[in-house]
Amino acid sequence: FMQGLERLRDQPAVTRDGFQVRLLTNTGLLADATPGLQRGAEGVGLYRSEIPFMIHDSFPTEQEQLTLYRKVLAAYAPRPVSMRTLDIGGDKQLPYFDISESNPYLGWRGIRFTLDNAQLLISQIRAMLRADIGNGNLKLLVPMVSRVDEIQSFRRYVEKAVESLQREGTEVRMPDIGMMIEVPSAMLLLPRLAPFIDFVSIGSNDLTQYLLAVDRNNPRVSALFDHLNPAVLVALEQIRQQCDALSLPVSLCGEMASDPAAVLLLTAMGYDCLSLSAYNIPRIKLLLRSVDRTDLLPLLEQTRRCNSETEVRELVAPLLKQAG
Ligand code: PEP
Ligand code: MG
Repeated sequence: FMQGLERLRDQPAVTRDGFQVRLLTNTGLLADATPGLQRGAEGVGLYRSEIPFMIHDSFPTEQEQLTLYRKVLAAYAPRPVSMRTLDIGGDKQLPYFDISESNPYLGWRGIRFTLDNAQLLISQIRAMLRADIGNGNLKLLVPMVSRVDEIQSFRRYVEKAVESLQREGTEVRMPDIGMMIEVPSAMLLLPRLAPFIDFVSIGSNDLTQYLLAVDRNNPRVSALFDHLNPAVLVALEQIRQQCDALSLPVSLCGEMASDPAAVLLLTAMGYDCLSLSAYNIPRIKLLLRSVDRTDLLPLLEQTRRCNSETEVRELVAPLLKQAG
């Protein structure tokens, strides 16, 4: 088994007709680095920094964060690592900081929470910038952006942190800043957000939840939560086209990147960078290596006429079966 993994690890995720997809990994645990690299992750597309915060019993200090982030960046260097700032709120709670809200998914989440707790954001940004010294592979990623002023403020915090660390004599560099597209308003405002960002990463879990108004964790409506819903596919095609027009690199890091049917459609749309759990990388790579992208284009065209996720899945099923 390990031998098979090793052989596959060094092969590109490329379709038979030459469309290459970069496969990055989602992580939040240092312990994921070994399986990630064994499975050929070309970097980290999403480091969920809230995970170490959730398993701590108080807010970790800048120094504690530095030690951890440095290990994560070093483990993957020189491959890029997109570190997302704290995405707390919604279903992700800290045991030592209560955020009880009647509508948590529409509440104090992600960048909203950290902009209101600036000291926390600053310590996190400083720790990440310092951890990058000697590694040089850090990118920053901002969760739950829904307004232009959020990304403007975030960028200013990063610029100020770079300046103050340099004044202290620390040789940090300005990293690329990326924005998660998880909220419909971020998608609709993409041309206005573009001047302030270097790349985007689609969080298809939250984007599906907010586009469809379906709580991703509510069993009563879970049948309605599907990233192959036609509305989600329309959104993804629009984002891909806008990113092309704006010359913005785009990747996708939700569960969708592990769903073979979805990966075929994303490939047809032109998505060439996916971030997923390390354990799913080998099978998604094998899938990509077994198909021709030219066969996927008419499939995508047909799904444009589908009225439900069931119709989409039925359309894709034969090709998926053929791919094994
Ligand atoms: C997403 O929303 O798709 C995402 C990747 O972020 P998280 O699952 O951590 O909310
Ligand atoms: Mg999310």
